[in-house]
Amino acid sequence: MTLNIPFDNSYARLPNTFFARQAPVPVRAPRLVAFNDNLAQILRITPGEIEEMAQTFAGNVVPEGAEPIAQLYSGHQFGNYNPQLGDGRAVLLGETVGTDGVRRDIQLKGSGQTPFSRRGDGRAWLGPVLREYVVSEAMHALGIPTTRALAAVETGEVVLREGPMPGAVLTRIAQSHLRVGTFQVFAGRGQIDSLKRLTDYAIARHYPNATGPMDLLRAVRDAQARLIAGWMSVGFIHGVMNTDNFSIAGETIDYGPCAFMDSYHPNTVYSSIDRMGRYAYSNQPDIAVWNLAQLATALIQQFEDPEHAVEEATEIVHAMPGLIQQEWLARFRAKIGLSSEDKGDEALIADLLTRMAQNSADFTNTFRALSSGKARDQFLAPDAFDDWAKVWQERLKREENPQAVMNAANPAFIPRNHRVEQMIQAAVQGDYAPFHRLNAVLAHPYEDQPEATDLARPPTEREVVHATFCG
Ligand code: AMP
Ligand code: MG
Ligand code: MG
Repeated sequence: MTLNIPFDNSYARLPNTFFARQAPVPVRAPRLVAFNDNLAQILRITPGEIEEMAQTFAGNVVPEGAEPIAQLYSGHQFGNYNPQLGDGRAVLLGETVGTDGVRRDIQLKGSGQTPFSRRGDGRAWLGPVLREYVVSEAMHALGIPTTRALAAVETGEVVLREGPMPGAVLTRIAQSHLRVGTFQVFAGRGQIDSLKRLTDYAIARHYPNATGPMDLLRAVRDAQARLIAGWMSVGFIHGVMNTDNFSIAGETIDYGPCAFMDSYHPNTVYSSIDRMGRYAYSNQPDIAVWNLAQLATALIQQFEDPEHAVEEATEIVHAMPGLIQQEWLARFRAKIGLSSEDKGDEALIADLLTRMAQNSADFTNTFRALSSGKARDQFLAPDAFDDWAKVWQERLKREENPQAVMNAANPAFIPRNHRVEQMIQAAVQGDYAPFHRLNAVLAHPYEDQPEATDLARPPTEREVVHATFCG
């Protein structure tokens, strides 16, 4: 069989100020280490021979119909505006329209330098590539919108990080790679025609019912509010919520220094570069609002009567905290087994979280154990749970089937940092068994899998991962 990708490219037809044409830079000795057959089917991709796929997903062979480009964008990084970023180590091969009618980008990440490389080699090493593969696919299985992983290839080349590391390329799939930063770059340069063109493109591609820029802002707000609430509900910390990592489609994008929390604390930070805790777990809703405000600021530049637009945009942005809170409450209600609504629910959930934080309770395992009556074991002082549970049990009397509600909302399995780390170390040694096992187990996170209890266990003191890196 020959690899066939039915490209149908739209971004490459936009004005050439939107991107730079850039072929991926060939690598020495590509070896296919992962291919996602299920996802390929959705994308209408026919897999080919292993060697052909290795050559293609390494970027050595540009497949028929591809029009490789590096996309231009800018963005706020840790609050500071950087007027030009762009794909400095990725190229978009093109798009396909899937069996579900959804158009998706096919991007090679780690494919070499581009005109937008500011520094660095344009490459990626195996660690972050496998991390993104596992964590993004886990996110998808958890039911949270995300970019996905189609393939991973080892390049047979060495890239220099802390030391010499094996190079790799990830094939990333996204509903698009449009970011807040894609709007910011044109707004920042005063290129209003391009800004308008981009706005029309984003509406047509993602929100065809939107009637104009302000309606687009509303749609992105709603999608992002759902996304952030989804992250909060599984203890996910993105780690680098810069505006260039804030997707217009509302997907989780950029798995650099991300992490799922083990023991719960609202101030948790893993990213080694987030020294001020700007992107700490509990700050994520506020940062999402900040990011949306940057999108509003960019979109407004296209109005001839900015005053009216400013008023409307302000209203849209100011409504976001309330929307996130609503989405958050819906998810956390389900996590404690509630289908009905009561005024006291929010306080009840907050009280549980406070007690969890005070007792170093494991976020995932505490919620999962609520339905089996074993949650108290997760608390340093189990009495702290018992006191809360008395009030909770009273509230549960008005619920029909809280067990089922909880088990559908509380995963048994998340990609725990230490397991991801151990998986990477094994792969670097050539052992891909942990990688495949993690993928298989994390594909069904809401099912009890008795043969995989080791993957549900929190890290021992020696296993704890204290910091994550951008890669
Ligand atoms: P990322 O962490 O991949 O989101 O990258 C943030 C910015 O830094 C983007 O503009 C990237 O293109 C650029 N960048 C990151 N790593 C590299 C690298 N190894 N070589 C060139 N540019 C890079
Ligand atoms: Mg990024
Ligand atoms: Mg990154």
